[in-house]
Amino acid sequence: MARIYNFSAGPSMLPEEVLKTAAAEMLEYGTTGQSVMEMSHRSKEYQAIIDEAEANLREIMNIPENYKVLFLQGGASTQFAMVPMNLMTKNKKADYIITGQWAKKAYKEAARYGNARAVASSEDKTFSYIPEITSDMLDPEADYVHICMNNTIYGTKWQTLPETGNVPLVADISSCILSEPIDVSKFGVLYAGAQKNVAPAGLTIVIIREDLIGNAMDITPTMLNYQTHADNGSMFNTPPCYTIYIAGLVFKWIKSIGGLSEMKKINEKKAQMIYDFLDHSALFKGTVVPEARSLMNIPFVTGDTELDAKFVAEAKKAGFVNLKGHRSVGGMRASVYNAMPVEGVYKLVEFMKKFEEENK
Ligand SMILES: *Cc1c(COP(=O)(O)O)cnc(C)c1O
Repeated sequence: MARIYNFSAGPSMLPEEVLKTAAAEMLEYGTTGQSVMEMSHRSKEYQAIIDEAEANLREIMNIPENYKVLFLQGGASTQFAMVPMNLMTKNKKADYIITGQWAKKAYKEAARYGNARAVASSEDKTFSYIPEITSDMLDPEADYVHICMNNTIYGTKWQTLPETGNVPLVADISSCILSEPIDVSKFGVLYAGAQKNVAPAGLTIVIIREDLIGNAMDITPTMLNYQTHADNGSMFNTPPCYTIYIAGLVFKWIKSIGGLSEMKKINEKKAQMIYDFLDHSALFKGTVVPEARSLMNIPFVTGDTELDAKFVAEAKKAGFVNLKGHRSVGGMRASVYNAMPVEGVYKLVEFMKKFEEENK
């Protein structure tokens, strides 16, 4: 068996240790005589799995007591509607900062339910930077301010958070959750689809301050009301049981390597290897301003679309897959989530050096 290095933006690699544990427990979890996939979500064995997953997530993210952790479905995209339906209810307006396609989708969806305002955008330069936000740009009466913390397609990340005063800050952290420590107390809501850094697709993690629960619009479907899930321990209906189990294994894996501060060091090392190479390469160059660079998604180009295509094809043959960039940026993108080994990044950079040598 030869495992490839998968640089996909999502779904993406899972830690090999996690896959091995899952494989070993596939036919029988513990002494239950069945796999986790087959188990009742109401069984005490499954309750222990979800409880342990939540406890470990709370521990590694240092989630304060007054926040609920919800394990939901529907992807981050469902949160684009759930956030306004549950939060845009006091003054019926919210501020959105447009730093990429996901942020824009969130904004457009919110505009269906109330007065969503696009405060600033970096679209003028293909979202290659994060706009500067000063407090006078924000509406103190807004029900919340929404940002996309790490812009998966464009490879930018908020390095400093906008100062929102008493207005809750809501962040889509789909592509940077668990990549480094984050101060949860600075946010009203954090949400993430699992398939980038946590688990297979099918699970959405929502971390929400308790006082923001219970104010949903009347039209809100029961399943889209945070209260429904908060009141039922994420078990109002059948949760994505197996995906939560895998997420739990990933949380344990993160604990075993020393938690998020250790994870951050490894991620910085990986990203730095690529950025250092890009900054000195005569052939390849990064597309993002240095001060907004993401740790997780690294787009780069040669400036020649044919050469880009050649690189992607040759990389694939060499075992580095899914390096083709998003169509809106072109070129390449290396997504180096938590589960990408340092070795995979080292080998990719060696391969890029060789390609540069052969194509100059
Ligand atoms: C992938 C991604 C999404 C979409 O997630 P789904 O779970 O597929 O809905 C939203 N936001 C960001 C930042 C993403 O990276």
